[in-house]
Amino acid sequence: MKSEIMIIGGGASGLMAAYGAAKWLVDNGSDSQVTVLEKMPRPGRKIMITGKGRCNFTNVKDWNAFSPHIRSKSNFVKPSFYNLDSTAVVDFFESNGMKAVVERGDRAFPASYHASDVVDTLLRACTGYGVKVVTDCPVTGIVRMADGFKVNTADGLEHRCRRLIIATGGLSYPGTGSTGDALAWAEGLGHAVRPCFPSLTALVPKGYKTGDIISRGKGHIDRGTPLSEFGKSLAGIQLKNISLAAVIDGQSVESEFGDVDFTDGGIEGPVGFQLSRRCVKAIINGSKVTLRLDLKPGVEAAELAARVKSLWDEVARDPRSRGKGDRERCRILLGKLMPWELIPAFLAAHPDIVTVKRKAGTRDGSGRYSVGAQQAFVNLSVIAKALKQWDFPIEGFVGYERCVVTAGGVDTDELLPKTMESRLVPGLYFCGEVMDMDCDTGGYNLQAAFCTGYLAGQSAAKSLLAQ
Ligand SMILES: Cc1cc2nc3c(=O)[nH]c(=O)nc-3n(C[C@H](O)[C@H](O)[C@H](O)COP(=O)(O)OP(=O)(O)OC[C@H]3O[C@@H](n4cnc5c(N)ncnc54)[C@H](O)[C@@H]3O)c2cc1C
Repeated sequence: MKSEIMIIGGGASGLMAAYGAAKWLVDNGSDSQVTVLEKMPRPGRKIMITGKGRCNFTNVKDWNAFSPHIRSKSNFVKPSFYNLDSTAVVDFFESNGMKAVVERGDRAFPASYHASDVVDTLLRACTGYGVKVVTDCPVTGIVRMADGFKVNTADGLEHRCRRLIIATGGLSYPGTGSTGDALAWAEGLGHAVRPCFPSLTALVPKGYKTGDIISRGKGHIDRGTPLSEFGKSLAGIQLKNISLAAVIDGQSVESEFGDVDFTDGGIEGPVGFQLSRRCVKAIINGSKVTLRLDLKPGVEAAELAARVKSLWDEVARDPRSRGKGDRERCRILLGKLMPWELIPAFLAAHPDIVTVKRKAGTRDGSGRYSVGAQQAFVNLSVIAKALKQWDFPIEGFVGYERCVVTAGGVDTDELLPKTMESRLVPGLYFCGEVMDMDCDTGGYNLQAAFCTGYLAGQSAAKSLLAQ
């Protein structure tokens, strides 16, 4: 097959690159062919699972508000963003027949809340400009030629192109086709690849999983490793309006307010994900990581201690407490301070909340000694402290099998931010997650994929026509 512009990878960035290239060519009267080679039977497999199947396809913030959510070098993304900002991405989808809605946090979704609409719209836009999308076509290698590139595919065929765009994504959710194939090709062509690691992933507390941990590398704890009893007592719980801090080697380095989810993987949800990048990196570097949960971030410690005491007195005064021991009363007290389902794990993690002491023994008239009965004591100050500071020492993290995004990748210092072309190999372009580019959750990653893809496609087409 011969095509002037070839794109490896039919994901978010690759399809947008194909659209950008084909549109530019058609608008400028060229009939040059643009072809996407996609490994999977259908393009856009990863898009289909984004936003829990609803696809949060962009975030409509302006650059100043958007850029702090780019965790890698944000300046690299700036020219692409200005070339196709998030409002332009919404316009692209709407003008191609997909209505969009914007939710809390400026997050844009298809109005149908079906990720498939995003894929269908991208494909419709591409084919409308004559893009050829070849599926079931894994690329196995690329060779630089004097007049372009040779692309080898698993069926043993060789394809020629004059401009090549690599849009193969990162390493996360390999079942969607993103297996990091292009990282080795990039290195083969002389590009540096920044170390990759999972980001936006679950952090696994110590004791959350069983002893037989399945691991592939330092700190990695496979999602499939079974939960321990402690893990089972937490998995499925969602906490709202809490604060979570990352403590690395004893220093609190980042704190986030919001919602956290305990899942079969570990600690995740918006706030857990937000901290995960830093924590994963620290674990890989051999640092000690603790997540510090504050269940009452709006209340000062002293005020909380007084509140715990007054609630305890209230429980004691309640006629329904009559006949109930301190252990039971403690559960009633905790029920006033946290969701019921969290209580067993809270008590298990803080064994000194309820301590058991034996009452003094007695001697009867004949001098026989009876051992005193056991009595539970509730330590209110421990409860107050644990509500503000519940520490989860972190044992590891869930890896590429279930992380949202890959940090690291092709070094962006060796790419031109205004075109996405390689500084080392003219005619070669990169876009999307294959590059050292990762963002927070909230539609930022897809926006980054779309805008870098569009710029790469447009630039490849422009340079082809300028030749
Ligand atoms: C569960 C989950 C939920 C997410 N939710 C959101 C969200 O709601 N909002 C958001 O902004 N981001 C979200 N993301 C992140 C976002 O999906 C990615 O950042 C984005 O898809 C990256 O786009 P890409 O084009 O670079 O890579 P991908 O979308 O991964 O596409 C790469 C494509 O290249 C193909 N490919 C790879 N190797 C080869 C090869 N050798 N030959 C041919 N083809 C190949 C793959 O099959 C794949 O189709 C989510 C990610 C996950 C995993």
